[in-house]
This record gives sequence, C-alpha cells and structure tokens, in this order.
Amino acid sequence: MAVDHDTLIGWLSRLKLTAIRDQLDNLLDEASRADLTIRETLAFLCEREIARKDERRIIMAMKIAHFPHARDLEGFDFEAQPSVDPQQIRELATARWVANGDALLLLGPPGVGKSHLAIALGREVIRQNYTVLFTTAQALVATLVRAHGEGRLEERLGFLAKPKLLIIDELGYLPLEPNAAHLFFQLVSRRYERGAMLVTSNRSVGEWGTVFGDPVVATAILDRLLHHSHVITIRGDSYRLREKRRSGLLQKSTTAAGMESN
Ligand code: ADP
Ligand code: MG
Repeated sequence: MAVDHDTLIGWLSRLKLTAIRDQLDNLLDEASRADLTIRETLAFLCEREIARKDERRIIMAMKIAHFPHARDLEGFDFEAQPSVDPQQIRELATARWVANGDALLLLGPPGVGKSHLAIALGREVIRQNYTVLFTTAQALVATLVRAHGEGRLEERLGFLAKPKLLIIDELGYLPLEPNAAHLFFQLVSRRYERGAMLVTSNRSVGEWGTVFGDPVVATAILDRLLHHSHVITIRGDSYRLREKRRSGLLQKSTTAAGMESN
C-alpha cells in the first residue's frame, strides 16, 4: 500500500499521534538502523507517543494544581532536618496513601520545611498519575465563605472534592472566620475516605480547637482526618533563619518567631 508522506502525516494528526507525526522520519530511520522488526517498530513508536502524552499530562496537571512555587524532594536536605525520616518520605512519594484516600499531617514551627515537603510530595503524586490541588487554609476558607454566601456551597464542595489529593497549607497561621469550622468540616466529610488530604500546620492537633474557634467541630474534623492518617511532626529551627545565621546575618541566639515571614 503506497501512501504519500503528507497523507500519512494527516492520518497521524487525526489520530493525535503527535510525537510520531513530528518525528516520523527520524523515528523510522532509527528503527531501521536498529534492525527492528515490524512489531518492535510499532512498540517503539507507541513508547515515544506515550512518553509525550505523559509529559503533557504532567505539565497540565502541575498547572491545575496551583503550586505557589516548585519544590522537589531532591532539593530537601534531610541531614539538616533529622526529625524527618527520609524512608517515610520516600514511602509517601509512592502515593500509596493517596490511592487509599488517607490524610497526611505535616506539623511544626515556621520554616522547618512543611510547605517544601507538601509541594514536593504533591508533585510526586502528580507523576504517579493522580490529580492534585494546592491551596492555603486561608484561601480555602475564604472561597467556602464566599460560595456559602452566594448559595453555591454545594458546587464549591463538589469542585474541592474532585482532585484525588487536596493540599491545605498553613492551617493555624492566621485566624479563621467564625463560620470556618463548619465549612471546613463539610469539606472534610465530603472527601472522607474518598480523596486524600495533606494539611500543614504550625499548631499541634491539640490546638486545633483554638484554630477553628470551635472545639467540638474541631474534634469532629480531627476524628475524620486522623482515622486513616500519617502524622509527621517536624522539630528544629527555621531553615530560612539557619541560612541567614550561617551567612552571619543573624546571631546564633536569635530564634525570634516574630522575625519569620511565611
Ligand atoms: P514551612 O512551610 O515549614 O514554614 P518552608 O517549607 O516554606 O517552611 O521552608 C522555608 C524555606 O526553606 C523554603 O524555601 C524551603 O524550600 C527551605 N527549606 C526548609 N527546610 C529545608 C530542608 N530541609 N532542605 C532544603 N530546603 C529547606
Ligand atoms: Mg509553609
């Protein structure tokens, strides 16, 4: 069957096999140089197409996740942070806990790497083919309050229930609005045992009653979050201040939490 080049390119476009289309001559040359059989050639072309599609999917999912910036596990200095077990983080990076719909709490004072790990793990989870959405507790509650006021709470909860992993950063840094506890509870109930959640907080779970301004609802929230959960408590000094101290900008004794910005 004789097919001219342009027709073949047209067919590949129609089938959306863009990686094969864009590299057709090179790929066929490569296959022939390697003496691939027809079956091997087909597998080789499929492999290239799948690699391109995966790459595209990851780029798109990273955009949809709305990470505030890029952080990766390779960039995390485990030696500087002995209270974090690298083995446990590697296990979490496999995303098994996300498949199970578990919760992960990263607790600890400012600057110890909670957001860094949350973003890095979120990016790993995307590479494992799950959808992720990153938000801060403050922004999350604000959108829930607004949706509630506009009679669109159901719609908003539906949207927030969709991603397989929801990352809520910085719970406890800023005081939440009075209605926050109830709205947050509805969100957690909606996702419970379906979608995974990763929450970072500078407050221990014992203080969440104060964070939410409602100990009863906070207990109900924690009850669900802690049911299938992994809790990592990070200790130590702020990595940011540590860097500054190293460069001589700060005295060794300076541990003022008030100097920390997040
Ligand atoms: P937190 O969210 O706990 O307040 P961050 O994750 O924002 O802290 O960390 C503060 C800064 O220090 C970030 O730029 C982060 O990448 C960096 N950082 C913190 N801990 C480490 C670490 N162990 N290795 C490398 N960088 C770190
Ligand atoms: Mg943070």
